[in-house]
Amino acid sequence: MMDLGAEPVRRINSRGKPAPHLSIKFDSHLFSIDTSRSPKACVQPDAYLITHAHSDHYGKSAMLSTKAIASVETARALEIRHDRQYKGRTFRVGESIMVGDVRVMTHPTGHTIGSAAFSWETEVGTRILVTGDVKDYSALPHCDLLISEANYGDPWDSSCIFDDDLASFSEALEEGATFGAYAFGKAQRAVALMRAMGYAGDIGMDEQSLALTKELMGSSGPFTGINWHCTNVVTPWNLNLVPGRKKYILTGRTDMGYPTIRLSDHLDFRGLMKMIEHISPEEVLVYHPGGERANLLAHYLQQCGMQASSLGQIDSFLR
Ligand SMILES: [Zn+2]
Repeated sequence: MMDLGAEPVRRINSRGKPAPHLSIKFDSHLFSIDTSRSPKACVQPDAYLITHAHSDHYGKSAMLSTKAIASVETARALEIRHDRQYKGRTFRVGESIMVGDVRVMTHPTGHTIGSAAFSWETEVGTRILVTGDVKDYSALPHCDLLISEANYGDPWDSSCIFDDDLASFSEALEEGATFGAYAFGKAQRAVALMRAMGYAGDIGMDEQSLALTKELMGSSGPFTGINWHCTNVVTPWNLNLVPGRKKYILTGRTDMGYPTIRLSDHLDFRGLMKMIEHISPEEVLVYHPGGERANLLAHYLQQCGMQASSLGQIDSFLR
């Protein structure tokens, strides 16, 4: 990867273990990617790029740095979710933002409201792209070094191959069912789908889902609190508060205690492979989530003849 003029590095955490995320060194810069804040004694990055507001992307910590960079919607979602003030800079997805002398471009990924991929070019002309989590790769540009997610990146696991079950969702909507969905991400996807399918009435929601949805997609109303007389979208643990028998959790999992409808915020394995073909990089670094799926996708890409590695193979450390 040094041929490309970029070096991935990890921090060692207070327990002496590699932190579960990475930073990229290039030219005279250091960009931290979906990482927690560096301890004061540690090398400080030029920027904390936060792709979206899910907790496994560490915005809860990075949002407190003036070096944080996140979309307007991601910054607002972090504030509502964590009840603290976002201290960094913001952009509208699709705009570029300067970090020192580096122009960082931003691209929509369709994973959550405000989710963004980041790309920039180094002094030697290497184009680097960081995906964050992706549902729709169509707006992502070509690059040389792709730093990719692999949430459903295990080619040998049949649960990594799926299609969204929109027919069942539409049928359940017509039956007046209640939907269980996580407050940030899935709840807004459900609302967007309900409106696209022609449902114009009130949507009832529990407190946090309502706050996030009103803030992030207020024009998709009308919304109300949990309400017996309309269709409700509530977090899975609030499903028992809603009367009626027809209840479905919107997820790919099957161990939820209620019937489920497959509706994912992610690309499946086939989608990830199509995304990589679309971006056509020289080299791929699989950075998220850590662990087996990243290793397996990197291994699979190597077998396909690509230069690929995973977070776990990074052997440069910042102290
Ligand atoms: Zn996510």
